[in-house]
Amino acid sequence: MTTSGAPRHARDALSTRRLSVREANTVAVLRAIMVLSSASQARLARWTGLSQATVSGAVARLQQNGLVEVGPNRDERGNRVRCAPMIGAAVGIELAHDRVVVALRRVDGGRVLHQSSVHGAGEGKELWAGTAVAMVDDLLDTLGMDRNDIVSLGLGVPTPVEHQPPWEKALIEYLPDVQAVVDNLGNMAAFGEYLHGTEHDDDVLLLAVHASHEVDAGLVFAGRVWRGASGHAAALGHIPVEPAGKRCRCGNRGCLETLISGPHLIDQVRQAHLGRRSDLPTILDDLVTRVHAGERVYARVIQDAGHALGRVLGEVFLVVNVDTVVLGGDLGRAGDVLAEAVRRGWTCTVPASMETVDPPVRLRTSRLGRAAAASGALAFALADAPSGWSA
Ligand SMILES: [Zn+2]
Repeated sequence: MTTSGAPRHARDALSTRRLSVREANTVAVLRAIMVLSSASQARLARWTGLSQATVSGAVARLQQNGLVEVGPNRDERGNRVRCAPMIGAAVGIELAHDRVVVALRRVDGGRVLHQSSVHGAGEGKELWAGTAVAMVDDLLDTLGMDRNDIVSLGLGVPTPVEHQPPWEKALIEYLPDVQAVVDNLGNMAAFGEYLHGTEHDDDVLLLAVHASHEVDAGLVFAGRVWRGASGHAAALGHIPVEPAGKRCRCGNRGCLETLISGPHLIDQVRQAHLGRRSDLPTILDDLVTRVHAGERVYARVIQDAGHALGRVLGEVFLVVNVDTVVLGGDLGRAGDVLAEAVRRGWTCTVPASMETVDPPVRLRTSRLGRAAAASGALAFALADAPSGWSA
């Protein structure tokens, strides 16, 4: 292995301008190593879809160039590959209706850093973008880096990206050299949960629900976000539950989202108290905090939402037989109160005979919490950042 002296910049190592197929495969392997932090060559082959021989050749070239280090692996057969010290940061941003969450880490590994702000998409594009970039600057400063060191940027947005304005344009004013990878935040949350939220086999089919002000969700199968033919896979917030129910933002009536979204649950609390209290929660996050404080009216509201969600998740199971379901977003913070109600709703849909089939579906609330979508966006963009930097 040659030594490279000062750490290389990841932008140079990842540039895909005018590359041969072999060089492009080498960059793909390096990206996979960055996303997974460290991995066996067998796992890198599964992750990239390249043959073991191609991965082995790529790792040898990367090692020769001082970009990766190969060491013994205690968990699996073969050696473990990890990034050599390198300059560069990967960024993920969750743009929710009422919040922006930023995740950032060095591309050569280390802990994911987070910050969040209450200025979300609902307050207009200028405010959220400025706030997000200020948080990015702050976290970069913590690592001794600046905006020129950003290697990739993922942005999770609260709508299907196919039918929406280009959200990322608001970021260009601040980060003209960085091309964002944009996707629905449900997909980003699912990718975050797949990578960091749970122990599982690589080929698991995971469904993550991200229920806050809106209800988003994502499916990840064998490490790939499953969008379907036109990007609407996992749009379970718009499965109709009450045909004559409230009008939904999608134009239909009675979608699941109209029963379990933050604004609906806050309405439920107000109706339960008939205006007799002045200290009612105004956002879902506060409502969930009151559930944890033992207020039973609020727990009942969450249980009703969980039951409706569980019935729909059961329908999803009957179509695609998921292995793992993760309940996240602000609603997921309700923990066991939510999960138990979801299980009860689930059993209304899924026949008991299927419940006993091995392996049982793992259904649990998110361990990543608010970090899920931003962490997923970070990894998603690092795995698949646009080629050809303007620098
Ligand atoms: Zn709808």
